[in-house]
Amino acid sequence: MSKINNIYCVGRNYAAHAKELQNEVPSSPMLFSKPTHALVKGDGQEVLFPGDRGSIHFETEVVLKIGKPYEQGIKAEEIVDSMAIGIDFTLRDVQSELKKKGHPWLLAKGFPNSALVSNFIPFPGVEEMKKIDFSLVKNGETVQQGNIKNMIFDFQTIIDFTAQNFGLGEGDLIYTGTPEGVGQVNDKDQLTLIWGNSILGECYIKLN
Ligand code: ZN
Repeated sequence: MSKINNIYCVGRNYAAHAKELQNEVPSSPMLFSKPTHALVKGDGQEVLFPGDRGSIHFETEVVLKIGKPYEQGIKAEEIVDSMAIGIDFTLRDVQSELKKKGHPWLLAKGFPNSALVSNFIPFPGVEEMKKIDFSLVKNGETVQQGNIKNMIFDFQTIIDFTAQNFGLGEGDLIYTGTPEGVGQVNDKDQLTLIWGNSILGECYIKLN
């Protein structure tokens, strides 16, 4: 994997997912970020997580890799060079506590290995992507299936919003939000990341 700079994530970008966690559907993109230490490749390896911090949830998401500096008016097709399927792992019990206190989510979202990515493939373009579903298979069973056409904020909106508020350039990743069906991982779970009919990545969960 070439050098990754910033890892941005969009929260509550699919209405059905916002609903399943009893959250309101946002009226502008809700962004958070993860440290680069969170990054891990879903290349079939075992991925280590803490076993003593409550439930850990998978959130399966399309991940965009930015290939050049942002300029006003640049189109998604020009600035995105590749895509992957990723998992935004979340310490859900920790996050619930943070939400109650009105604290930032970093403790729940930024732990090591919390940003998993599959292999990257060339960016197919927005319209082409609407014809293809992404999914997560856990121990042989499909647990999440999504399509970018159901996003509340589309790629262009997310790209412009991110660039204008934080900056966006080569080597940045954007996790574009999870559809419904998030759930807990357990020790020895096998997770397979699928784009259409192709397996792009895989990992095994190891709880410490
Ligand atoms: Zn997420």
